[in-house]
Amino acid sequence: MSANLAALLYLGSGILFIMALRGLSSPETARQGNFYGMAGMAIAIVTTLFAVNLDFMSILLIIGGVAIGGAAGAVIAKRIPMTAMPQLVAAFHSLVGMAAVLVAAAALYAPEAFHIAGPLGNLKTLSLLELSLGTAIGAITFSGSVIAFAKLNGNMSGAPILLPARHLINIGLGVFILVMMAFLMASGGDAKLAFWLITITAFIVGVTLIIPIGGADMPVVVSMLNSYSGWAAAALGFTLENTALLVTGALVGSSGAILSYIMCKGMNRSFVSVILGGFGETGDAAAAAGPQGTAKQGSAEDAAFVMKNAGKVIIVPGYGMAVAQAQHALKEMADILKEEGVDVAYAIHPVAGRMPGHMNVLLAEAQVPYDEVFELEDINSDFANADVAFVIGANDVTNPAAEDDPSSPIYGMPVLQVWKARTVFFVKRSLGSGYAGVENPLFFRDNTMMLLGDAKKMAESIVKSLE
Ligand code: NDP
Repeated sequence: MSANLAALLYLGSGILFIMALRGLSSPETARQGNFYGMAGMAIAIVTTLFAVNLDFMSILLIIGGVAIGGAAGAVIAKRIPMTAMPQLVAAFHSLVGMAAVLVAAAALYAPEAFHIAGPLGNLKTLSLLELSLGTAIGAITFSGSVIAFAKLNGNMSGAPILLPARHLINIGLGVFILVMMAFLMASGGDAKLAFWLITITAFIVGVTLIIPIGGADMPVVVSMLNSYSGWAAAALGFTLENTALLVTGALVGSSGAILSYIMCKGMNRSFVSVILGGFGETGDAAAAAGPQGTAKQGSAEDAAFVMKNAGKVIIVPGYGMAVAQAQHALKEMADILKEEGVDVAYAIHPVAGRMPGHMNVLLAEAQVPYDEVFELEDINSDFANADVAFVIGANDVTNPAAEDDPSSPIYGMPVLQVWKARTVFFVKRSLGSGYAGVENPLFFRDNTMMLLGDAKKMAESIVKSLE
């Protein structure tokens, strides 16, 4: 295949990736976006196979790799429950990071194979800069993603681990990496030890960046690591002079950065302190406070009666709805209420659930009409006019401590002001806290009624009582 044709095909796959991102920005077009992404990736892989003259053994290795990786990916995608998606995403980011490290090492040890050797067999300085950036960002992405996986999967406590002088430690490690990069470039690639020191130090930085980040801030970590994995791939795209990798990496890197920015805005956190891994520090843990009164408990029949007679009901889904897979029963409940003439809307917090868009995906799966689903900023003022806020498996995203209590770890995060509704129903199994580990004082307010139980079973019981 000629270089021009390969470049043209890579350009085509780049355009398909941009269309994929555009499609993924709305639940209505997300499937189409996924299709564009798959088509773009298929073109990129086939072009790569034909762009260079490969011997039989190389083709066999590539096909074997694609078959093993593709089969493992298909099995995992089939088996993974929706609730485990965030840790799966973190695990996949770690693989991108590790791939960047391995490709950088391969380029360092076999520069001729990558066409980056200078006239004397030494590596070009620019290539050394690219591959040391690739291994550094890749190693940070790998170990950071492993820690994020452990925190999201419950293998490690979600509480922040604050090392003394951790900012100084991070700066020290960062400076050491820069010095080693200079050393590697000055040696023309001979100082292999410097390369491995960069890699090992970056593995440590990945850990020190992520361990101070506490529960409620994890969504930003996931999108930030997504961004890092993209930049690692982009750096390697330069090294390998592969336009498709460069474009894809830059797209992932920049879209991940934009998503991190949106999440930071949604949670009122500083973008710069997120990137520097220092935003997990919290004040005195409000989590330690015990229950603050007695909570009123109601039944499915009570909820059915109140909602049937309501003018406006706003449903607030959260992580518990995903765990219970309650979205279908919830939709059924909403349909009956609408038939009764009740105005029903859904309020989505940007960090509800365990991944960006988690609630939107589940509601779309249950075929909830898109025009009934509203983002926080579009619906928050409506709670004051609502008769009922029906909170199903959500907790942190409704916690007024985020507005009232400066010592709370979630202080400053915008929350859905469900307490302004005339009656608040909370469907959850206990009075326990949510992911951030913060007590929710709403459970003990006069206009709150707890509907204790599994979200799906409770929604089904309400449907029965409504019928
Ligand atoms: P929360 O984690 O605050 O609360 C979920 C609640 O669901 C729990 O309190 C739990 O209470 C209840 N629950 C669990 N299982 C069930 C069940 N089967 N039936 C009924 N209830 C159940 O979730 P939110 O959605 O309100 O907030 C999301 C939190 O996750 C935020 O802190 C956010 O920062 C964090 N996060 C978000 C990510 C994202 O990208 N969206 C990524 C990582 C973290 P109980 O045990 O009493 O039933």
